[in-house]
Amino acid sequence: MAVPRHKHTRSSVGQRRMHIFINPATLASCQKCSKPILPHTMCKNCGFYKGKEVLNVMAKLTRKEKKARESAIKETKKK
Ligand SMILES: [Zn+2]
Repeated sequence: MAVPRHKHTRSSVGQRRMHIFINPATLASCQKCSKPILPHTMCKNCGFYKGKEVLNVMAKLTRKEKKARESAIKETKKK
């Protein structure tokens, strides 16, 4: 097995690693509820993609959760 000849100083290790980082995800906002979403994906909050309903998000929610979700969507529309 290959063995490193010289010790890597903290400085050189740091200089190599300064380029290793994760960029923050670029987010778009939903056309309907204006929540931040990943671009080219369906909105998980309202189930819409490109202005069309793709998934009925409300179907599996209970009555209480439905009310809360609808009021949240209304509030974001006002803004
Ligand atoms: Zn949405």
